[in-house]
Parts: sequence; structure tokens; C-alpha cells
Amino acid sequence: MKAIHMIAFILLIIGGLNWLLVGLFGWDIFTVTGLGMSSVVARIVYILVGLSAIYELFTHKQNCKACSSAAPSAPASTM
Ligand SMILES: [Zn+2]
Repeated sequence: MKAIHMIAFILLIIGGLNWLLVGLFGWDIFTVTGLGMSSVVARIVYILVGLSAIYELFTHKQNCKACSSAAPSAPASTM
């Protein structure tokens, strides 16, 4: 499913950028927007980001050309 793949990717980027903000400034996306890190909306997004990470963990190698071409046993049909 390409749609799920794209959603998972976007959520991972959002999660990564959020951690960049936390690391650099001590900000969180949801603190900046006034929702608060413990708000229901924030918790739902954190859960979705985490689920996206799990999804990518298990599907990344199948979807990623860089990873699949590095594996010697993988078929070279994507080249
Ligand atoms: Zn990869």
C-alpha cells in the first residue's frame, strides 16, 4: 500500500523534526502550538509516529532501493 507507506514516512519526518526542536530549543510541536505535550491530540500523534516507526522497521527493506541493492541475495530486478 503506497498510501500507508507515504503516511508512515511523513509521520516519521514529523516525529524526527519534533525531536530536533526538543533537542535544540526544548520546544515541542504541541507546546509551540499551545496544545501541550500531554494533550489528547499530541498523544495520538505520538502514538501514530511510533506506529509508523514500527511499520517502517518491518517494511523498509522491501521498499528501499538502497537497502535492497546492498543485500547480495536480493533480486536485482529493481536496478
Ligand atoms: Zn533503506
